Amino acid sequence: MHLFDVYPIYPIEIAKGLGSYVWDNQGTKYLDLYGGHAVISIGHTHPHYVHRLTEQLNKIGFYSNSIKIPIQDRLAEKLGKVSGYDDYQLFLCNSGAEANENALKLASFYNGRKKVIAFKGGFHGRTSMAVAATDNPSIVAPVNQTDNVIFLPFNDENALEELFAKQGNEISSVIIEGIQGVGGINVASDAFLKKIRLLCSQYGAVFIADSVQCGYGRSGKFYAHDWSGVKADIYSMAKGMGNGFPVAGISIAPQLKPKYSLLGTTFGGNHLACAAALAVLELIEQDNLMANAASTGNYVMNALRGHPKVKEIRGKGLMIGIELFEPCEETRKKLIFDHHIFTGSSSNKYTFRLLPALNLTVEDADIFLEAFDKMTR
Ligand code: PLP
Repeated sequence: MHLFDVYPIYPIEIAKGLGSYVWDNQGTKYLDLYGGHAVISIGHTHPHYVHRLTEQLNKIGFYSNSIKIPIQDRLAEKLGKVSGYDDYQLFLCNSGAEANENALKLASFYNGRKKVIAFKGGFHGRTSMAVAATDNPSIVAPVNQTDNVIFLPFNDENALEELFAKQGNEISSVIIEGIQGVGGINVASDAFLKKIRLLCSQYGAVFIADSVQCGYGRSGKFYAHDWSGVKADIYSMAKGMGNGFPVAGISIAPQLKPKYSLLGTTFGGNHLACAAALAVLELIEQDNLMANAASTGNYVMNALRGHPKVKEIRGKGLMIGIELFEPCEETRKKLIFDHHIFTGSSSNKYTFRLLPALNLTVEDADIFLEAFDKMTR
């Protein structure tokens, strides 16, 4: 048997990691500004994380949601506190797509409607409704195609108003990333998020904030949508939540009421996943990682603004898009192979992404800035 070949890969085998660094099997050290696709939030193999997980594994790793799992309650309590959404409810699952799938489904159960508004350039995952709400026809299989999703231009308040005026009573939910990740780091404007809030409240639609990539402190606030000052009805989260352990969830506003069997999953919220997620939240809180993401992110963005090779810098905190005047693939290759720095691509071939651990230091950032400057001047 061999692997189903769906990932274009770099010929590098990572053998170990520590903090913001990884080493390949030849012993070469790399600065990791990609975080395995925005997943590494507290750094690789953080001792507190390793301790929490091994301690839990030595007790019990998994049992199903048919019994009491007190560590789930501890996670919900901590998430409520660190995110600032104490009165929301937590449903645990396993991946970003699954979180969005459940969010879209829950919204539809809640208001009995079918239509979803999603945005151009958005990415919400690869399961049935999540992929239907993703603006990339090449990953939507015929079986996933539906008339229930309406795509509107990103940050276009007029288009949104017009659509609600026409068919607002049919809209079940509006799903939006606070900062589009895969699409190339496009920040939703405060005015646009406020308008979504207003129209959803007015027409009884559910505001779903996809925080899978831009959440968990990466933007400098817990959810990137928080910068707008309005609250969504459901926040989906995954990537940074478990620092690499597969764990995801949705944070659900109080008016959406649970009932038995409405949602469910076998693996979601297992003991080990909760231990990983708790370790991450404890470190975000204890080490002030949101403040560090904001300040180190600003430092990097300010340093790159006005650089002759950089057309535009977009993002917030440690979710940064660097748009060049030319396609960026060569630059990324040079960064990896000549300077040993990992960065991320995007669907915009001119833009590459920095998605490092939230405890990236200014000294680490300087290594990248110097390399980028040297190779592009
Ligand atoms: N939503 C956003 C904004 C994402 O960036 C991603 C993955 O890149 C997903 C959802 C899907 O997450 P997963 O790959 O864990 O299913």
